[in-house]
Amino acid sequence: MHEYSLVQSLVGRVEALAQERKATAVHRLVVSVGELSGLDPGLFQTAYDTFRAGTICERTAMELREVPARWTCPGCGREIARGEVLTCEACGMPARLSAGADEILLETIEMEVP
Ligand SMILES: [Zn+2]
Repeated sequence: MHEYSLVQSLVGRVEALAQERKATAVHRLVVSVGELSGLDPGLFQTAYDTFRAGTICERTAMELREVPARWTCPGCGREIARGEVLTCEACGMPARLSAGADEILLETIEMEVP
């Protein structure tokens, strides 16, 4: 299961960060997921609930946020909306996906540091 390995690496990252800052607990996580990642938020949550037992995230609430896909022109930086032709009107350059790809970002992590 794809979601499971993503959760595994996410929790690993949280544990590394917590260790680095000598945190005793992690209270809250906000994770953003690109719209085009193909990730199923429900499955991701289920995988998280399964995996977090016995880790520092055992009692940590996780909030998932979806990052909408966005394209910009690499020439002039113009934003190109969803549904538009993915070529810049001004420069004729092909638009580049600038957000909402397959990234999974740890946006917020609230830790208890003694
Ligand atoms: Zn342009």
